[in-house]
Amino acid sequence: MPAEPLILSGKPVAKSLKQELQTRVTRLAERGVQPGLAAVLVGENPASQVYVASKERQARKLGLKSVVYKLPADTSQAQVLQLIEELNRDSSIHGILVQLPLPAQLDSDIILNSVDPDKDVDGFHPWNMGLLALGKPAFVPCTPAGILAILKHYGISTVGKHVVILGRSRIVGTPLALLLSRKSEHGNATVTICHSVTTDLAYHTRQADILIAAIGKPHMITAEMVKEGVVVVDVGINRVPDSEQEKGYRLVGDVNFAAVAPKTTAITPVPGGVGPMTITMLLANTITAAERLSGY
Ligand code: NDP
Repeated sequence: MPAEPLILSGKPVAKSLKQELQTRVTRLAERGVQPGLAAVLVGENPASQVYVASKERQARKLGLKSVVYKLPADTSQAQVLQLIEELNRDSSIHGILVQLPLPAQLDSDIILNSVDPDKDVDGFHPWNMGLLALGKPAFVPCTPAGILAILKHYGISTVGKHVVILGRSRIVGTPLALLLSRKSEHGNATVTICHSVTTDLAYHTRQADILIAAIGKPHMITAEMVKEGVVVVDVGINRVPDSEQEKGYRLVGDVNFAAVAPKTTAITPVPGGVGPMTITMLLANTITAAERLSGY
């Protein structure tokens, strides 16, 4: 019988990181600084509303100031840019996040580029992306940072490993590839990035020592697509209809967990794997921003 895989739960990782963050918040409070996070939410996207409410709740729990700006769906680009300009100048705000996706009339590139890079706690500004590409200290997008924190917590080394990443979004796949391939203790991997135009996806996934799926397709990764002993990180959060659930749906990952887990040595669950890490890393970035901006 093969050994049971290690379940890479994000909850204990998030919990232990939050204890460290609490210490940093207390230290800032002793100097009269309260880290401030502003979220800009345009429109009524239900998932975005849930995410922003959760970010606000967790920020407050940790002692951060948290302000949510809820703007109507027909808000103009000029109005959003004006609000961001005000937040850039507000010394009580250290982190600004613009919840994506934005309504169609808004240009998300222009809006994200208007955030002060020193307050860009989502790490989406080209300045921070550029620093990341150069291997310099930068605000790292929260989901990739959370994935690295999980691997570190469970003692899974990426050094010399072949990591295959499915997805090349600027939120997950692209920054993750930069982090994992860079010359560092928690990088130094050989990285393959796959996407929707990749030919013979299964050939690539079977090469992976560590497979990271961030594509947004429920249960797309099957047992035949992975080799024995692989480590799997499933970033996908997909709603599938389920009449037995009160909400009428349940959340599943991009990986068919039941089929794939027996072939793995370690695997993240969905929900409860990468998910809990993303907001934790957002709080970490906000506290870092407050430390830097207050000269700590
Ligand atoms: P995007 O839609 O921005 O990107 C999806 C990527 O997957 C694209 O690069 C796309 O390729 C690729 N892709 C799509 N279909 C296939 C396919 N059949 N084969 C190979 N590659 C494919 O998604 P995100 O990066 O924003 O999110 C990915 C998933 O992760 C979603 O389920 C999302 O909900 C989840 N997520 C979870 C987070 C968390 O906190 N756990 C945070 C962020 C996202 P191409 O570039 O060619 O279009």
